[in-house]
Amino acid sequence: MKIVDVSKIPISDSNAVKDIAEKAGVNVKDCYQCGKCSAGCPMTQGMDAHPHKIIRFMQLDLLDEVLKSNTPWICASCNVCSARCPQNVDVANVMREARKASKAAGYQPFPDSDKFEEAFLANVRRFGRSHEAILAAQYNLTTGHLFQDVPNVPAMLSRGMISMKISKVKDQDSVRKIMKKTEKGAE
Ligand code: SF4
Ligand code: SF4
Repeated sequence: MKIVDVSKIPISDSNAVKDIAEKAGVNVKDCYQCGKCSAGCPMTQGMDAHPHKIIRFMQLDLLDEVLKSNTPWICASCNVCSARCPQNVDVANVMREARKASKAAGYQPFPDSDKFEEAFLANVRRFGRSHEAILAAQYNLTTGHLFQDVPNVPAMLSRGMISMKISKVKDQDSVRKIMKKTEKGAE
């Protein structure tokens, strides 16, 4: 995996924190740091700052801390944090916007994550759902890790974790329409 030298990231302008909050549709001042978002987050183990801390950084306008944290990149977009917040702070949306801002600033701690996203979306476009075996094959091909999952395939097949049978959703057109709509909204 490529290691990014975070010291080379340019410092962004001071309005960028407000920009992230605005795009995420949150007022970070609503947060009173109860920590409920972090307590419910399933991904904290790999994060260098828990979700409530990212909100705290934003309250203090600590842009670099937000952009250089791996937290938005580790976030699985499960929305648990947003659902648990007693103040209706959409923490998950903050993570999405922080990830975009971080990438725009040249920080990409997990360069392969874009390739995973592309392979995942291509799968959903094609089958209306994600097909794990094809997704893994596409991802491994595009990242050059050709055989990384091969030793696990027999066990995964026998436990029903993956299947070689391709199943498509019945109403693929509706899925494509939803994807078009969301892609348009993300522009
Ligand atoms: S749950 Fe809401 S109020 Fe509590 S720390 Fe998280 S964002 Fe702040
Ligand atoms: S959306 Fe991200 S930050 Fe929020 S609980 Fe899920 S993984 Fe954690």
